[in-house]
Amino acid sequence: MDITRSGVATVKGPADWFTGDVYIDAVAVPVAPARAQANLVHFTPGARTAWHTHALGQTIYVVEGAGRCQRRGGEIEEIRPGDRVFFAPGEDHWHGAAADRFMVHIAINEVDAEHPDAADWGAHVTDEEYGATATG
Ligand code: MN
Repeated sequence: MDITRSGVATVKGPADWFTGDVYIDAVAVPVAPARAQANLVHFTPGARTAWHTHALGQTIYVVEGAGRCQRRGGEIEEIRPGDRVFFAPGEDHWHGAAADRFMVHIAINEVDAEHPDAADWGAHVTDEEYGATATG
């Protein structure tokens, strides 16, 4: 057993990876051979990830607020507390807050020696892409 007491500083999401203000708390930091990595991510209103993929896929679980997500070529979907989204390995996508609400999700990724980075990052989600009317 290894207890990590709360006291690790919250990290601001890097501007290369996010639009708007995003704050990240580490939930699970795997030590090999463990692979499960988890983060608690707070998105301020209008904040969202850039387009990105996860080599081994990703699950997000919404715990607070209201958000949006979209896969490349798909509709923008509204997501709410209790909703779970799985992004398939290699699926290009983004996720973030609604324009007028915070959104908090847990993000669960796998990392290993061959895939040390949980995500591969692309272009920012433009205001035009983000602003499309949400459905669902
Ligand atoms: Mn993702």
